[in-house]
Amino acid sequence: MTINKPKGTEDLIAADALTWNYLRDVADDLFTVYGYQPVETPMFEQADVFVHGLGTGTDVVRKEMFTTLSPDAYAKVAAGEADALKAAQRLALRPEGTAGVVRAAIEHSLVAQGGTPAKLWYAGPMFRAERPQKGRLREFHQIGVECLGAEDPAADAEVIIMFMRYVEALGIDRSSIRLLINSMGDDACRPAYRDSVSAYMHEHLDELCDECKVRADTNPLRAFDCKNERCHEVMEGAPKISDALCDDCRAHYAKVKSYLDAQGIAYVEDPRLVRGLDYYTRTVFEVQVVDGLGAQNAIGGGGRYDKLFETAGGKPTPGLGFAAGFERLVLAMQACGATLPEPVRPDAYVAVAEPEVAGAAFALTQELRDNGFIVEADRQGKSLKGQFKQADKYAAPFIVVVGPDELAAGKVKLRDMSSHDERLVALDDVTNALAEALGYSVGGCGCDCDCDGDCDCGDDCGCGCGCDCGGEKAGGEQVGGAAEKA
Ligand code: AMP
Repeated sequence: MTINKPKGTEDLIAADALTWNYLRDVADDLFTVYGYQPVETPMFEQADVFVHGLGTGTDVVRKEMFTTLSPDAYAKVAAGEADALKAAQRLALRPEGTAGVVRAAIEHSLVAQGGTPAKLWYAGPMFRAERPQKGRLREFHQIGVECLGAEDPAADAEVIIMFMRYVEALGIDRSSIRLLINSMGDDACRPAYRDSVSAYMHEHLDELCDECKVRADTNPLRAFDCKNERCHEVMEGAPKISDALCDDCRAHYAKVKSYLDAQGIAYVEDPRLVRGLDYYTRTVFEVQVVDGLGAQNAIGGGGRYDKLFETAGGKPTPGLGFAAGFERLVLAMQACGATLPEPVRPDAYVAVAEPEVAGAAFALTQELRDNGFIVEADRQGKSLKGQFKQADKYAAPFIVVVGPDELAAGKVKLRDMSSHDERLVALDDVTNALAEALGYSVGGCGCDCDCDGDCDCGDDCGCGCGCDCGGEKAGGEQVGGAAEKA
């Protein structure tokens, strides 16, 4: 019997896993510049973290949360005693990152009242029991940031700009995406606005889909997101939040826009952009791909959540952030021909001409790897011809052939796979010969200077390399793990 992956999940194998790592690396480099530190929270939390944080009326909590139980809790449920479960026993796989990070920030007192903001970024899998389709999975991956403790509108603009810079850094063309922004108001103005939308929906109840009929009471703003054509048309006529903002929210929103304008960040104001979760207040934003991703065109979004800390049992603390979806970012990157990382090919393949030199070849393989070369070798007992074929498959540009006669003379053969040229190289010079053939420089310190490892200045000669190798790389004697790509 074969067992397949669960519906709505993907295996990230080789190139896909490299791409995921690449997206994280780009995020790490960029977010570090903005002062963000990494955070890892558990992939499951008490379900209440999400139920209270995201809101009971949200689609994610109502329909999409994967709840999970330990065996003893499961036994209780199986025995019909689900009501006896304690809150700590009701667990859920995280459907998003913010609620867990806020839970952690409260638990570890990361943001003292009025203290310096905590700025955190994360990358990891999220889980939602949605109907899978292109760009919509049940296990998907998000990269997100949370800026906790900052209420200034400059923080909103900074987070939006950081998102746009991230997308640019991935090679997603600015013309292929649009940035939508809105203010959702706060406790002072949103409740009345929500009621006015609910009243409007009740006037048009017959025209709405079954979901939106329910939303009219549970979460009226969510109806703006409904994919049903008719609902969309009806909601076009609903009251707009831009007409209902209180003075403070209006001023905050105006400031955010002025910062974006000053940085030349183009945006579209969309008064119907509400985002799906209850925790948002004031600024919300979403980045969408203009063409090609169909209904799942949002590559990421976020906003401000100034009430979430209190909802989660913490002290009043403003916060904001965004999350971008890895799978949709990749689709957007592919659509505009952005470069995606490719599996690295080996620098060389070490081949064994006769079994009796296998030990020497093994040692040489290891030595080359210790010097930083990417090296492949046969581990299936192949003939020499088979090894050559395999080297070709790996696309190794060079083969180092270890043979008994050559070895007896302290040498190995270095074969260039494209020209088929072969030459003998002294065993103790393979590192240099291979580096030279590949156009790499060999130095102990791995620094960027171009003294070619000839200097023994200890940094005094004025070569300006600025390294602190103490001149030990002279003559390439101290190899120390560096075959540096020139
Ligand atoms: P959200 O947490 O709903 O604001 O989503 C933020 C981003 O995560 C979206 O813009 C998508 O890029 C991504 N995302 C959300 N849900 C899914 C899903 N089910 N499958 C793939 N990506 C998703």
